Amino acid sequence: MDVKAFAKSQKLLTGETPLVEFERLRQDCCGEVAGAVSWSAQGAIQPDSAGKDAVWLHLEVKAKVPLACQRCLHPVGVDLWVEQDFRFVADEATALAQDDESEEDLLVLEESFDLLSLIEDELLMSLPLVPMHPTCLSEHVPTSSNEADSLGVKPNPFAVLASLKTQKH
Ligand SMILES: [Zn+2]
Repeated sequence: MDVKAFAKSQKLLTGETPLVEFERLRQDCCGEVAGAVSWSAQGAIQPDSAGKDAVWLHLEVKAKVPLACQRCLHPVGVDLWVEQDFRFVADEATALAQDDESEEDLLVLEESFDLLSLIEDELLMSLPLVPMHPTCLSEHVPTSSNEADSLGVKPNPFAVLASLKTQKH
């Protein structure tokens, strides 16, 4: 994707991409990976804070991803919603120099730009650290670590500790 041409055209691009196509995100999922990621990308040429015309991208992404509940280790559908502005700069040095003073995220302008990869990056960053059911089904709450092993998911040790504490009360 030529992001500069896209920005100049001021186009709004929308899409639905199956969740399973996001390889990296899929690895963080638990159970059946179904559904789609819906996204929209709006390109624009707008001045930056110094008043110079720049290439911008406004991204909105919505998805529901099945993650391993850190209490019972069964899948919990977590709604993710990302809304982020990106401004493209000439090179990495400019990005580093301007990063602190910019509310928008800075990306280096390259010939080829992978929108889906950016969408995936944003989703990965928006994943909750400790996904959990509001209330777990009691039969799902593991009674021993063996049961957790048999489910084939790696429990977060701190969450397991927390759930053990809760069970004592
Ligand atoms: Zn749970």
